Amino acid sequence: MEKIHLLQQKLPAGLDCAVITSAPNRHYLTGFASSNGTLVVARDAAFFFTDSRYTTAARQAIRGAQVIEESGNRLENLKAFLHERGYRCIAFEAAHTSVEQYHALKKALGDFSLDFSGETDRLLLHTLRRKKSAEEVEKIKAAQRITDACFAHICTFIREGMREKDIQLEMDFYMLSHGADALSFETIVASGENGAKPHAVPGDRRVKKGDFITMDFGAVVDFYHSDMTRTVALGEPSAEMVQVYNTVLFAQNAAIAAAKSGVSCKQVDAVARDIIKNAGYGAYFGHGTGHGVGVEIHEQPCFNTTSADVFEAGDVVTVEPGIYLPERFGVRIEDMLYLAGETPVNLTESEKKLIVL
Ligand code: ZN
Ligand code: ZN
Repeated sequence: MEKIHLLQQKLPAGLDCAVITSAPNRHYLTGFASSNGTLVVARDAAFFFTDSRYTTAARQAIRGAQVIEESGNRLENLKAFLHERGYRCIAFEAAHTSVEQYHALKKALGDFSLDFSGETDRLLLHTLRRKKSAEEVEKIKAAQRITDACFAHICTFIREGMREKDIQLEMDFYMLSHGADALSFETIVASGENGAKPHAVPGDRRVKKGDFITMDFGAVVDFYHSDMTRTVALGEPSAEMVQVYNTVLFAQNAAIAAAKSGVSCKQVDAVARDIIKNAGYGAYFGHGTGHGVGVEIHEQPCFNTTSADVFEAGDVVTVEPGIYLPERFGVRIEDMLYLAGETPVNLTESEKKLIVL
């Protein structure tokens, strides 16, 4: 079913239409990429306003909404259109409206009843975007296949003396030249003591024997993201490094095994966290165990200590515990799970046993 129809079916009572302008929600609903566009979704009709740069492509790509070319003042156009259609109660995306935009909307559309409650945002993020269709999962799988292939490639590429940046560039080039439309986020390559910073920025540090190298990366295919992390050793690791690695791997595998349909997301997090804590590294695992992935890299639900969600069919979520020993080294291992039936499918196919390059 067209995504626009899903929103039409669930449009909150009392609303005549929702006005969608944020890129992730536009991409999700229309499947169309543009820097500009206003999607108006009413129960029985939908309209996509954009300018002359995009109208031809939008008409070819968008199903379920009438494409209208606009020029001039967008707020004036919207006001005239809402009057013409007789729409009175209009929801905006609260999470994507700046204070400046809010005041401009209030001023221009003072005659209408404007809804900034965030209900439409929550419906999109927590219900519609969360439940992935088979078609969406195919795109995520395609993105993950590129990501897995990139990992296999980079393991043959890394040599002592290369800078983190050199490794990052090779990974980015590999993914972009093997079918990725874009990178999911700025690729992380963190070696040695930099690995103790979970989101380190790759720099001039040269990798050397005895390092752990943590790589966190992903590709985008048709708006859908992949996300994986592997930590590899360059040369023989110390006994302590191996112990930390195996602790993270054990915690990661245990969390995956616990992630079954109907289990609370908090519980999945607790499984990984307790193992790391019992091994004596509780203070060195500060982030959540995982997050949803889709048209954005961070979506719902999340495996963390505060989640109120239950893991259920349609979810695509990462499992990525880590241990970070400040100024020494760090380990993170991340896979992506898709839950269709009782137990999830692991979309990440790369080896998880410690690889020594
Ligand atoms: Zn990641
Ligand atoms: Zn992640």
